[in-house]
Amino acid sequence: MKYRSSRGGYKPVSSAEAIKMGISPDGGLFVPDFVPRLDKDVFGRMEGLSYQERTCIVMEKYLSEFSTDEIEECIYGAYNQESFDDERIAPVVKISDNLFIQELWHGPTCAFKDMALQILPHLLTASLRKTEEKSEILILVATSGDTGKAALEGFKDVAGARVIVFFPEEGVSEIQKYQMITQEGQNVYVAAVRGNFDDAQTGVKEVFASEEFAGILSRYNIKMSSANSINWGRLLPQIVYYVSAYVDLKTAGDIREGETINIAVPTGNFGNILAAYYAGKMGVPINKLICASNSNNVLADFIKTGVYDSNRRFHKTISPSMDILISSNLERLLYEVTDHDYCKVANWMEELKCRGRYVVDEPTKQEIQALFWADFCSDPETIETIRSTWLEKKYLLDTHTAVAVNVCTKYREATSDASKTVVVSTASPFKFAGSVAQAIIQPELIQDKSEFEILELLASATGIPVPAALKDLDKKKVRHNTVTSRERLDKTILSFLNIESS
Ligand SMILES: *Cc1c(COP(=O)(O)O)cnc(C)c1O
Repeated sequence: MKYRSSRGGYKPVSSAEAIKMGISPDGGLFVPDFVPRLDKDVFGRMEGLSYQERTCIVMEKYLSEFSTDEIEECIYGAYNQESFDDERIAPVVKISDNLFIQELWHGPTCAFKDMALQILPHLLTASLRKTEEKSEILILVATSGDTGKAALEGFKDVAGARVIVFFPEEGVSEIQKYQMITQEGQNVYVAAVRGNFDDAQTGVKEVFASEEFAGILSRYNIKMSSANSINWGRLLPQIVYYVSAYVDLKTAGDIREGETINIAVPTGNFGNILAAYYAGKMGVPINKLICASNSNNVLADFIKTGVYDSNRRFHKTISPSMDILISSNLERLLYEVTDHDYCKVANWMEELKCRGRYVVDEPTKQEIQALFWADFCSDPETIETIRSTWLEKKYLLDTHTAVAVNVCTKYREATSDASKTVVVSTASPFKFAGSVAQAIIQPELIQDKSEFEILELLASATGIPVPAALKDLDKKKVRHNTVTSRERLDKTILSFLNIESS
């Protein structure tokens, strides 16, 4: 299988090259030549298989130059009981007859980013071997909070790689920040960036695009790559859990053969929901993909109107991992729904860069609306959804997942479609304990408490234990305290690497 740039300006590459490079040199994203299908027999066979075995079946289709042994080594290195606290890896919980929640946060950092970032370092290491790469790989990450920690955990002490994480100084929760600034490992660096996530992401993209900077690094035998969801190696592992959720519903007898399901995804950079789209193209029978935004509802507006307009106020919300106005992975969807019309895609992306806005043509809009439905959920609605779900179902949602549950309800009210729906749960409620506690604990009890004290309060109020990974974070040693700005990311990187800037 070959991978091409969504903007058409680079030669087709192997999957190993695509994973190693992260982003195409023309600024586009690598996309598979075609989307492989899983036939009915394969879905049937998967019912008796473990998550790891299902992963192997899906990944083999995309990683054609990897042997089964190599793929299995990656899978079992990532999805094991040392790293995941549930042996099912991505269990599906039944909330009612037509609502299911797939928990994607049983990995080491308590957010769904682990699903991809536990395996990406293995895929990257295998790709380096396969392409006989001699350079050291420098992974640059811009994070809205969860990717950073997941990348640090995934890549710490991996030979041949170093990782630098940039997080928005004002944009992450206390717990997220402590997870990152206390990170251990010989090859990891962390810096706060003044501004919001878009500043961090744009800064990192600028560094990637600078030939001069790449030139400096190459003199030291270093090449850059990305662990953000622009890397195909991030998306591929995410396709798997949608396949697995569908197989689980069938195995449990919750859906009939051929019955279509809806999938609701709390969306920021459009990576997670794009993986669901690919799962649909592979054969998972999907009726609607429900795209749930928070008050930064640029995607919901785009799906409703065909106008992508990032020129709007940026809101800091209680679902901070979705506080994003420039959703990188939408580019891949545009490439797919225009039948690989990379000229069109390149033009829209150029407009986005110059004017912060683009408008897709009518057929493209209709194609998208046939597959997706979208709306957004405000902070008060998020809190209310956490409260009512806890009271009525005794299920504790985190703030991001609550956004998706709320938008799923709005979808049902707007369309009367009662298809069975899987909501993907992207974080443990404890990761956003401060906001979750507001929904279910009396205000007097949490007033003036730190997020770390609230963790314990939340545990005693719900009877759910604090995940081991989040316990005692505030007592760990702070190892990273660099603060930088979008304009100075290159200098910061060089100083981390001990390279003099000419
Ligand atoms: C990253 C993240 C999201 C958004 O996922 P995208 O792939 O960027 O759309 C949602 N919820 C949580 C908890 C996250 O960490």
